Amino acid sequence: MSPYRYPNYVPKVAKNWTVSEKKRCIRAANAVLRDGGSEEEAIFACIHAAGKGKKQYDERDEQEYEELCEEASQEFQELLVAVLSGALSIREFSERFRDRLRIHFSDLMLLGLQGEEFTERHREILEQRLEREYEYFDGFEADIREALSSGVIYSGRLQWRSSLYGYARAPFIAGTIPVDITFMMPYLPGDDCLGKSLCKCWLEVDEDEDNYYVYWNVNPSAENCVVCLDHEAESPYTFSKVEVHGLTT
Ligand SMILES: [Zn+2]
Repeated sequence: MSPYRYPNYVPKVAKNWTVSEKKRCIRAANAVLRDGGSEEEAIFACIHAAGKGKKQYDERDEQEYEELCEEASQEFQELLVAVLSGALSIREFSERFRDRLRIHFSDLMLLGLQGEEFTERHREILEQRLEREYEYFDGFEADIREALSSGVIYSGRLQWRSSLYGYARAPFIAGTIPVDITFMMPYLPGDDCLGKSLCKCWLEVDEDEDNYYVYWNVNPSAENCVVCLDHEAESPYTFSKVEVHGLTT
């Protein structure tokens, strides 16, 4: 196993990290390899050295989150324009909208994961969230159908509703915390936010020997709804490690 070298030979796990994280990672990994450690041990050392041992929310991703949401929001509005003008049938509209939602949710979760593995458990979370979103969308589609058949179209309002589908906080935040903990949380940021995810909350996970502690943070620079403020006040959410990992003693 030859040593890693910045910038052309970086461990795969580090490929989306910052320069300093990559360098810290490589230095630690190479030290392990030099001492005769395995590749796996080297990768662990790399993750640890870059401060990535506990997967955490990184506010530097917030801008990319914003861009992904705006882009999707724009496309949802364009699809609406197309169906209202007759360029798309309702059926085509619905198919494309659902496909785009799926891609969007996956993109957001991958952003949260920052190069960490997308597992079957992550897929489960994604499917749960998509299922809910598809239910809302069914109502939206019915309203569009109704508007088209009655000829009474409040396009401004429909436009606004289509734009909201771009803002999905839960898939992004789900990627930033350990997947087992995601399943324990009663709700994630965005799930029940009155501001349709615009509170921009995030989670931080801390632990001691027995428990995980999940801290709910509201974004101080955003307007925060009462539901999100309550979640912040209720936090940390505490889960025993036995409970989280399903271990019996
Ligand atoms: Zn909120």
